[in-house]
Amino acid sequence: MTFLDTDCELARHSYYDATVRRPASAPALAADIECDVAIVGGGLAGLSAAIELADRGYQVVVLEARQIGWGASGRNGGQALAGLACEQETIEAQLGLDEARRVWAMTIEALTLIQQRCARFQIDCDWRPGYLSLAVNQRKARALQAWQLRMQSLYQHETAWIPPQQLPQWIASARFHSGLHDPISGHLHPLKYSLGLARGARQLGVRMFENSAVIALDAASTASGSLRVRTAGGSVRAAHVLLAGNVYLQGVAPVLESRIMPVGTYIIASEVLDAGLARSLIPSGAAVCDTNFVLDYFRVASHSDTDTTEHRMLYGGRVSYSTSTPMNLAASMQRRMAQTFPQLGGVGVEFAWGGFVDISMNRAPDFGRLSDRMMGSAATGLSNVYYLQGFSGHGLALTGMAGKLVAEAIDGDAQRFDTFSQLRHREFPGGKLLRTPALVAGMAYYRLKDLL
Ligand SMILES: Cc1cc2nc3c(=O)[nH]c(=O)nc-3n(C[C@H](O)[C@H](O)[C@H](O)COP(=O)(O)OP(=O)(O)OC[C@H]3O[C@@H](n4cnc5c(N)ncnc54)[C@H](O)[C@@H]3O)c2cc1C
Repeated sequence: MTFLDTDCELARHSYYDATVRRPASAPALAADIECDVAIVGGGLAGLSAAIELADRGYQVVVLEARQIGWGASGRNGGQALAGLACEQETIEAQLGLDEARRVWAMTIEALTLIQQRCARFQIDCDWRPGYLSLAVNQRKARALQAWQLRMQSLYQHETAWIPPQQLPQWIASARFHSGLHDPISGHLHPLKYSLGLARGARQLGVRMFENSAVIALDAASTASGSLRVRTAGGSVRAAHVLLAGNVYLQGVAPVLESRIMPVGTYIIASEVLDAGLARSLIPSGAAVCDTNFVLDYFRVASHSDTDTTEHRMLYGGRVSYSTSTPMNLAASMQRRMAQTFPQLGGVGVEFAWGGFVDISMNRAPDFGRLSDRMMGSAATGLSNVYYLQGFSGHGLALTGMAGKLVAEAIDGDAQRFDTFSQLRHREFPGGKLLRTPALVAGMAYYRLKDLL
């Protein structure tokens, strides 16, 4: 089974897919057309850029290989969080504290953007504010508290400390020692949100094509000055191209692939819970992560249909570095959920799915222009090809901001985009074949650290 076969199989079993009504499919591209900006990828990064560009008066085409929101954007844990996957120290070490503060502020703006877009396009995506970061032992609690104090003093990021004696008011689980509450992060139904953004983009005149995999990108010739992306059925000529394909670009820009690594992560949705039980598990309704490197992330999701609201535990965790799905996924995740909430021990699992995140070596996002990744004459004609990747499992909110930054750059103000694009990244060692074993060895070390 190839990586894509595995992923298509995982996508079929998603709770999110079962709780949305998709509009009729967009057509596949079947002609040669032109626009200002061609966007490859109909996930949150591509859709966000499409909206921002259309707002600035650009003609935009989105080409999606499968369906809008098919990738990580429509399948994730739904946790919209401040910050990046890496610690701020990683950014400080490269860019200094002032730039790191600007980066942090943009991650907060990313959360505001979600609220603005939900209001503007009337997207009902079950938003709940609040996020709990919970330490599993005293050593991790000390590290979490040190993080809180540092973020408060250097970034004015305010979170509330929850000492051990107060924790039962926040979570009905004995697994945790203490934690932090962040009131501005939160959670939502990511596929409802993605489809809502797509609807908004269409209202702004963005043209969308589904089942339209881009198979080649032709650099701009000096004569025409325009780029061209090709699918099996047609092509789009454009002055600018955005590659927002996550781990799925499959050869369109090979130079980007060695900078990220597809890592599988998995989620289950319980059967429908009694409303009282659902409320008792996480009384504030917040999203939760533990502080382990290979973390568990979970939340109670409440989905309303015409006249009913149903509550389920959505429990995420486990990782696969080999791209094959773990054996007995639903049963093993159910055990994990029951370790955290023994009161859910007898509760069944109705959905088990997963997807792939695009982790970068240092877990910092990797944004840039394709010309910066090429040497000498190979870079010619590629300076108008932008790319967004390396969200490293922390992209639900940040993708929105990333799309906005690309739009600003195309529209002539690249300052904020370049704050990110100047971050340096290393390639995964071992090339395409050996990078997975190298990563597995590295992760074994972190797993061990989690247990200490
Ligand atoms: C299981 C899971 C749980 C996660 N949980 C969280 C979470 O709780 N919080 C959080 O912040 N982040 C989470 N993430 C990460 C987050 O979902 C991603 O960072 C984010 O959705 C990435 O968006 P994207 O638009 O870059 O990629 P995607 O949503 O994957 O979109 C890329 C799209 O590009 C299309 N595409 C690729 N190549 C081509 C091509 N050649 N031609 C045309 N189309 C192409 C793909 O079909 C795909 O639809 C999770 C991810 C997964 C998989």
